Amino acid sequence: MKTASALLSLLAPLCLTAQHGTAPDSFVWQTEQFADVRILRYQVPGWDQLSLQQKQLAYYLNMAGLAGRDILWDQNHRHNLQVRRALERILVGYQGQRSGADWEHFMTYAKQVFFSNGIHHHYGNDKHEPGFSRAYFEGLLKASGATLSGEVLTTMFDPAVDAKKVSLEAGKDLVKASAVNFYGPGVTQADVEAFYAEREKQDDPARPLSHGLNSRLVRGADGRLQEQVYKVGGLYGAALQESVKWLEKAAAVAENAQQRKAIDLLIQYYRTGDLRTWDEYNIAWVQDTASSVDHILGFVEVYNDPLGKRGSYESIVEVNDPEATRNMLAIQRSAQWFEDNSPLLPEHRKKNVVGITYRFINTAGEAGDAAPSTPIGVNLPNANWIRAAHGSKSVSLGNISEAYEKSAGSSSLEVFCHDQEEIDRAKAYGALAGKLHTALHEVVGHASGQLEPGVGETDQTLKSYASTLEEGRADLVALYYLMDPKLVELGVMPSLEVGKAEYDSYIRNGLLVQLRRIKPGKDIEEAHMRNRMWVSAWVVEKGMKDGVVARVVRDGAIYYDIRDYEKLRSLFGDLLREVQRIKSQGDYAAGKALVETYGVKVDPAVHAEVLKRAEKIRTAPYAGFIQPRMVPVTDAAGALIDVKLEFPDDFVQQMLYYGEKHSFLPDVN
Ligand code: ZN
Repeated sequence: MKTASALLSLLAPLCLTAQHGTAPDSFVWQTEQFADVRILRYQVPGWDQLSLQQKQLAYYLNMAGLAGRDILWDQNHRHNLQVRRALERILVGYQGQRSGADWEHFMTYAKQVFFSNGIHHHYGNDKHEPGFSRAYFEGLLKASGATLSGEVLTTMFDPAVDAKKVSLEAGKDLVKASAVNFYGPGVTQADVEAFYAEREKQDDPARPLSHGLNSRLVRGADGRLQEQVYKVGGLYGAALQESVKWLEKAAAVAENAQQRKAIDLLIQYYRTGDLRTWDEYNIAWVQDTASSVDHILGFVEVYNDPLGKRGSYESIVEVNDPEATRNMLAIQRSAQWFEDNSPLLPEHRKKNVVGITYRFINTAGEAGDAAPSTPIGVNLPNANWIRAAHGSKSVSLGNISEAYEKSAGSSSLEVFCHDQEEIDRAKAYGALAGKLHTALHEVVGHASGQLEPGVGETDQTLKSYASTLEEGRADLVALYYLMDPKLVELGVMPSLEVGKAEYDSYIRNGLLVQLRRIKPGKDIEEAHMRNRMWVSAWVVEKGMKDGVVARVVRDGAIYYDIRDYEKLRSLFGDLLREVQRIKSQGDYAAGKALVETYGVKVDPAVHAEVLKRAEKIRTAPYAGFIQPRMVPVTDAAGALIDVKLEFPDDFVQQMLYYGEKHSFLPDVN
């Protein structure tokens, strides 16, 4: 618990218990745990080896990324910025009693809101429940000189209002059922589909635009639908203007002409909002494979839109990890071999796998949808035609994985593994298996396969099932090859025991462990969770019939014991072939049936048992990160001579600092 004065003092010069450079063994990986969340920190190996120019570049890109932080808050819900600013006012200014049950619950709620960039859970999508009364909160507001409208307060406190950030519940109007701020009042799913069907007709079929990626769709005063485009001078213009200011500095210190071209195109896109420029930027970005400092920036992933069109704002600054990348080159070089030897129908195999780039990177700064919760692997760009014609870039965030491993206490292995052999295998090979799964998923998985002629982009053909089917497909490619002697031959793993460890872990997680993240009575909604479930449930159902997998019940608890790894591998292959067929042919009905049958509903008895068992584990199921702080060092003349990294250790203080220094959008509504 911080006192008010401590909170105030940090808002002046933020110099916490900073450690410079690569921190020693005493580095604190986990700083705290609240609700279902752990707060971790990461190091940035390789930072000190960067040149001054590369450090400058990373710093400017990071500032450009942070400039847009508010955008994600507003995208997630129309009241999020107001709620956050009220929380900030209370945290900084409240002079009353900062202890007791109500205050503790208030602190937990505030941290949850900071963690998820809004009032809904970042992963489960349910609205956070304040553990304190509306009257208590109104007292805090008043004493802190803050106000919120009755509508905002009702949104916070009435569980029925905007209960779900993103709803994928079949049969509902997904736009109306989702509280996310991508669509204006009164806009329906049918409206959106009709609006974009019209736009898609005007597309060049060889280069379809990512319609809706950078706008909000509203009904204008004249009753007609119109896009409010995210651009300088448009929606979110103030934040994008600030971002452009830093991107211009970044372009000036770019590592090479190709990178400068990409950054210049991003600036142009932020200025015009033109989606053709976004495509040109992505092509330039994917062709920059030489830079040591790279970035992911803009409106990128569409998971937060129930219709899979609108991109959430995010920023990741990456620093190359050359050593780990070298190890993965072997997989990259064999991409065509993997494609040729895959279980896909011959007509769905890609004849010429183009431009797969894979690197292990370390992130040096994240913002927007990539923070505090972060991905561990990313493959971009998302437009299929660019991927087919120009390739894609895949990265694994090595230092994030490292932080997860270093911070993992007594694991869930004892609680969920079937036997000692499984535990031992997980301890010996689990970390490597996880890294290889990520690498294969990103490099070989997302790059594999081809659509049949005339079949449109999957977000149009497979709609709300496109994301989970694509993630499941990439997982299946990884799983299929993790038991292939080819990986041993390539020298990336010592034996097939690594593959067995991954099979154990995948089934254990898909059918049991991940249910920890779901509240009783709820379905699985999130795309990745769904795919881990439907992949696991499908192969286990088939495998149980002929002794490939056994479902063992001991003292009322369920375990899965894999008895034939080779046969399980061929079941993964069978499912991969079918999922690729669904994607290649745009078979919506089959995709929907697969996901709804195997990946959505949770058996309440199994769920209850898993939650009971999980009480023995004290590690929270989610984790996110306090970001390092890049501190520019200038000489007497004001010239930048170095950028040092500091590693703050207080989550709330960092959130308050961001709220003060990196907030550029006015309150709306
Ligand atoms: Zn993926």
